Amino acid sequence: MNYKNGISKNKEGYILVYFKGHPMARGNGYVPLHRLIVSLLLGRNLTREEIVHHKNGNKTDNRIENLELITKSQHALIHNSTREYKHKANAKIIRKLYLQGYSGRSIASMLNIGKTTVLNCIKKLGISRNNMSLRDKQGKFISRKEVC
Ligand SMILES: [Zn+2]
Repeated sequence: MNYKNGISKNKEGYILVYFKGHPMARGNGYVPLHRLIVSLLLGRNLTREEIVHHKNGNKTDNRIENLELITKSQHALIHNSTREYKHKANAKIIRKLYLQGYSGRSIASMLNIGKTTVLNCIKKLGISRNNMSLRDKQGKFISRKEVC
């Protein structure tokens, strides 16, 4: 093994380092670097229930201050709430832009998200620029839901 080439990156974007015989190594002898760093700091191996979270979301930023050791369930909470927040925020923006007259395609390119996502969101929000039944008496557009 040439340890100069002992650094690799997996499909999920995590940096892996070759660490022969390490208890936390996967079958191929590689250990995720963020887990290795926290394990070395604590002086013990991490269990499967322990997750090392990258605080700033950058999986290659393995500075100690960016790493946080938490449980699997805490981790799920962090990521679900972020996703939920993003979803709500996008729905709000999509709604405004759509009612302003922008097409699903241009909204998608503005927000750098898929066109289908935008169109599904518009559909779920129940907003339409053409359907008069979705306007109130003052002619203002109304939506069935505030978020999608
Ligand atoms: Zn995380």
